[in-house]
Amino acid sequence: MLDIIKLLPDSVANQIAAGEVIQRPASAVKELMENALDAGATQIDLVVKDAGKSMIMVIDNGCGMSETDARLCFERHATSKISKAEDLFAIRTMGFRGEALASIAAIAQVELKTRRKEDEVGTKIINEGSVVKEQSLVPMQPGTSFTVKNLFFNVPARRNFLKSTQAEMRHVVEEFTRVSLMNPEIGFTLTSDGKELYHLYSGNLKQRIMGLFGSNYEEKLLPVRQEAERVRIDGYIVKAEFAKKTRGEQYFFVNKRFIKHAYLHHAIENAYMEMISQDSFPGYFLNIEVDPSDIDINIHPTKTEVNFLDVKLVYAILHAAVRKAIGQHNLSPMIDFDESPDLNKDFGAAFAMSKPLAIPNIPLDPNFNPFRKEGSPRETHYDNTFHRENNTNPGDWRLLYGERTDLPNESFIPKEDAKPNNQYLQVNQSYIVTAIKSGMLVIDQNLAHSRVLFEKFLKEMENHSGVSQQELFPQAMSLNLNDASLLKEMMPELENLGFVLEQANPTTFMINGTPSDAAGCDAVDLLEKILDNYKINTTDLQLDRKLNLAKTMAAQLAIKPQTRLSEMEMQNLVDQLFACNVAEVAPNGKKIYVILNMEDLFK
Ligand code: ADP
Ligand code: MG
Repeated sequence: MLDIIKLLPDSVANQIAAGEVIQRPASAVKELMENALDAGATQIDLVVKDAGKSMIMVIDNGCGMSETDARLCFERHATSKISKAEDLFAIRTMGFRGEALASIAAIAQVELKTRRKEDEVGTKIINEGSVVKEQSLVPMQPGTSFTVKNLFFNVPARRNFLKSTQAEMRHVVEEFTRVSLMNPEIGFTLTSDGKELYHLYSGNLKQRIMGLFGSNYEEKLLPVRQEAERVRIDGYIVKAEFAKKTRGEQYFFVNKRFIKHAYLHHAIENAYMEMISQDSFPGYFLNIEVDPSDIDINIHPTKTEVNFLDVKLVYAILHAAVRKAIGQHNLSPMIDFDESPDLNKDFGAAFAMSKPLAIPNIPLDPNFNPFRKEGSPRETHYDNTFHRENNTNPGDWRLLYGERTDLPNESFIPKEDAKPNNQYLQVNQSYIVTAIKSGMLVIDQNLAHSRVLFEKFLKEMENHSGVSQQELFPQAMSLNLNDASLLKEMMPELENLGFVLEQANPTTFMINGTPSDAAGCDAVDLLEKILDNYKINTTDLQLDRKLNLAKTMAAQLAIKPQTRLSEMEMQNLVDQLFACNVAEVAPNGKKIYVILNMEDLFK
């Protein structure tokens, strides 16, 4: 029998591989723009015709190529960016596989013009379907331009597969957005069928977001910044009040490379949901900077997916960063900053672009390593938001009453014997009403207390500081095997909260002590509710387990509506509420209070 295996000619191999890298005009746009970034350009211009179907041109003022490199760049695995396998892990630039240009040239007519600064003239090369048709010298500015015409001219099946010009243009704009967003120091333009759609000037990230999405974003953005060992998070989220009812601007980058990451998206969404109503989607523009050796980016041909060595800890940092940003914002809107020049001392220059906000003291553990392997004790370090050493923040709160803030803090921490400073009125045994400088504050007592407890429980789990109360008569709790093993899993957190549990046999637990906040509560009932909630929120995350636990406990133990409160109890509750990281929203996303200002009252 004859040998039947043949080696495919390069041009065919390239065409096949091209299908993986170049699916549509937007994929070529992405590759060409990323190459321009890698070349150190400070200005990148993108011009398309027919959404790139008939022409894509990318012009940059980057380093350019020598004559030899200009020829070589179309070869498969031709790259200046790696020379050995280890480089793959250290690579910082965008492309690193030396495949893009070979792929594009295999399925289009490409004209390259390129010139290095040190050369007198540039090189022009025309490559059609992987074949060099022409090479000559051209006078030109230093830099590079690629013109890609008639994409898929030799692969009709693919060409027919393209969507309408409108749909393809949306993809092009999306790629342009992703590349330009995280490179605000670089100028970009996008021109489509002779019309300039974007003209982005070099600037900062906020200006870039405004350039891409509209200048009304000025007031919509909240800065996010969090640094931990080996991880830095930077960017903006859209304030909750501007969150969209449909999935809006959600841009997530790792080392400035756009990626999709459902799990980390969840970290952001979760942080939002604890703070805002749950029927809207958060907008965000966030970059995570990590050591390239801590991620594996080369797992997807179009490189929009990334594997982290320890994704759970990145989740935790991201989650904390977003919460912190929202928390700071939620505290600020009702405070009249003009009143107290003193306050400015506490406001970091780190957020110079936004209006001044109080930055809670969030000491980060210098030994915190987000890439520590799973199961290490540090992993319990999940929410730095609750690491504030000084858990009161009465300075901000006192401003509501128009009080002085230059007095020592201690005088505002509620004391048993202190007389209330203010008049509190309970309405319908459910709402606390009190006068403030600018009008009237109406607080939902149940939601307020659930916020106070929620933060308290989270802190206790962090610090292992829950206070327990011995049960006079230990209760037995019988469970099915499944629930018993769940309960066992949760024992460490439960104990940190003040539960004292003992497993008597595989399905029976003795409750020897309960958290002091749960005094007078049916402990068995409470634990059953906790188990139920844990099952509903079926995630195996330790992080979520804690949140879940704190939420359930807070919901169960918070003062119920229709409960009479003394004036002292009301004052304590109000003081505690405004010492919280987030005083505005309950853990279930509901608003805790409203302010009726003078104008409202006049009406
Ligand atoms: P990769 O980017 O993965 O290296 P490409 O096929 O995209 O692979 O590019 C091949 C090589 O061509 C690059 O490594 C680079 O040396 C060169 N090159 C491509 N585009 C440009 C450009 N705009 N300016 C300078 N050099 C470029
Ligand atoms: Mg490339």
